[in-house]
Amino acid sequence: MQLDNKKDGLLRFLTAGILKYSHETTALQLGDRSQYIGLSDIGKGMECLRAAVAGKAGLIEHLHDKDVPGLSAGELRSVLEKQIILQRGHWQEYGLQNAIMATGVKLIPQLEICIEYNGIPIKAHLDFTIVWGGGKPTVRVIELKSNELIPDHLYASYEAQMYGQIGLLKECWQKPCFSVTAEHNQIEFNDVTFPEAAAQLFGVSLPDTPENVDIEAWVLSISMTQIKPFGPYFPDNIMLNTCLQIAERIWNEKEEILSGNISLDDVQYCSGFHPLCDFCNVNQDCPKFKDQDILEHDPSFEAELEKLADLKEQESVIQKKRDVIEQRIKNTYRLINGNKIGWLKTSGYRFKVSTMPGRKSLDRDKLQDNMAAHIHDGISVDDVLEQCQKTSSPYERLYINKINKKRISAA
Ligand code: SF4
Repeated sequence: MQLDNKKDGLLRFLTAGILKYSHETTALQLGDRSQYIGLSDIGKGMECLRAAVAGKAGLIEHLHDKDVPGLSAGELRSVLEKQIILQRGHWQEYGLQNAIMATGVKLIPQLEICIEYNGIPIKAHLDFTIVWGGGKPTVRVIELKSNELIPDHLYASYEAQMYGQIGLLKECWQKPCFSVTAEHNQIEFNDVTFPEAAAQLFGVSLPDTPENVDIEAWVLSISMTQIKPFGPYFPDNIMLNTCLQIAERIWNEKEEILSGNISLDDVQYCSGFHPLCDFCNVNQDCPKFKDQDILEHDPSFEAELEKLADLKEQESVIQKKRDVIEQRIKNTYRLINGNKIGWLKTSGYRFKVSTMPGRKSLDRDKLQDNMAAHIHDGISVDDVLEQCQKTSSPYERLYINKINKKRISAA
């Protein structure tokens, strides 16, 4: 019991620290987010307007470190798990920034672009901007996305962010819209043009206009074991205008809610089984989940269920194909090795078949008989349970290991 208390104390201590650090760094890097529309708001608004507007209208309560002592054990676990997912991206960003800087390129981390569109303040924060001057001026923007699983295709919200970032970079090139903070760079400046920023940071000379500059944006999707680039994305006026219009809708609907003219439930929400709903801070009272009619009349729910059924079908076909191949490999192993054990290898893999002990489980009938016969004889229940364990038949397991080829390393 005392050990459990200590474990709980350690987790509470860490959770409070993560929450405090997260609030402080967000305030430092992004300022008061209620005062502008960011590109992540636009990305979210592209997927679900209601979710984006709720965030801007201050309808989401944020947990602070001082709230941690009052959390139940279950709440604590769920807060910590959510924070680890949220913070993982920042931790990876720090490592990737150091890796890019180690190459010696001219890197601007967390470049801010600030504009006003129809009176609405909009800010973009670019994770990594790399600059080359000279005869072939080039700019690469890289956005890091931390994902549990690397997606096959980029989400619409990520693409919107990329088009917003690169579109604003080109559109604002000659305007005093760029800022960098001292936290990320040697020097700090505000409201300069992009060529001025490059000149002040690196002494690089860039053209006054972006027309002949090679500009691309990329997304790096990173999981705990894999990384995949998506891109390139090029400046596109139509996509930029779409982003700006979404920003305007989020801002205007937020203003309407704050003026009391509409409620959050009047704001349009996304249809279907949308992944955003799993993590959405306002999913508890979302109209989407209040009405059976919505399920019946929104075809996107049907489509998703069909997709799942189809995937299950594919899974069972794959499972059968896998079983056939596995059995063939086991047969080949026995034909080659006979009764011997040990690894066989191809040029890239090694494999062996081993006999594993059967799984242990409780024999209920035996347990009942033994309990009835011995429970009053002074024999302990543990002894009775021990006698009642049975072992299932042995089974085979196929091992496959990748053989890592030797590489000649630099001295
Ligand atoms: S629960 Fe889903 S539909 Fe409702 S606001 Fe959140 S993301 Fe949108």
